[in-house]
Amino acid sequence: MGSIVLFGPPGAGKGTQAQRIMEHTGLPQVSTGDMLRAAVKAGTQVGLEAKRYMDEGALVPDEVILALIEERIQEPDAVDGVMFDGFPRTVPQAEALSELADISHVLAIEVPDERIVERICGRLTCGTCGTVFHDTFNPVPADGCSCGQFEEKRRVDDNEETVLNRLDAYHRQTSPLAAWYLERGLFHRVDGDRDIAAITADLLALLE
Ligand code: AMP
Repeated sequence: MGSIVLFGPPGAGKGTQAQRIMEHTGLPQVSTGDMLRAAVKAGTQVGLEAKRYMDEGALVPDEVILALIEERIQEPDAVDGVMFDGFPRTVPQAEALSELADISHVLAIEVPDERIVERICGRLTCGTCGTVFHDTFNPVPADGCSCGQFEEKRRVDDNEETVLNRLDAYHRQTSPLAAWYLERGLFHRVDGDRDIAAITADLLALLE
């Protein structure tokens, strides 16, 4: 198996499924969104440039993203492949990626638009361990997160206005990638509007 791309609209559950697939395959999750948020927090040049796009729900320019990815996939844990989450998001990013890594599966998690806003607006993570939760669909257990040190964290861009822009960017810039990967025989779809465990089972079956 090479690297995997987790594909889908914002709020489809890519990060949630990446964590679960990682437990089975050992492939590290490479989330460009997480990398950018870390850069913003650290106040680096990349973070300063990326922040204005992220705050609006627009895509960060391809060259910024590709520089991050090129560096990340040279890390020792990436030698046997990685699981890309939220990357590639444009056809030029996919073209560049095809020169950098061997992609064996593109797994599309499909969720209808009308479900996205409620999924994103109730989303939170544990700031200590990164586990993803949702106020309604995947609540934090009464005794807290399994890491034992639950710290509630919500993304600044998980608000209704920004979500609509992110969804628009997805339809205009990212969804054309489906046809691009379909032509290359790499594209597989799962229904993402179901139970978390059922989706994981389907994704793992596709990887077998
Ligand atoms: P995410 O965590 O994947 O939802 O990404 C959060 C934000 O980071 C997006 O709304 C974009 O502004 C930016 N971003 C993340 N990944 C990419 C990418 N591959 N290309 C362009 N912008 C990205």
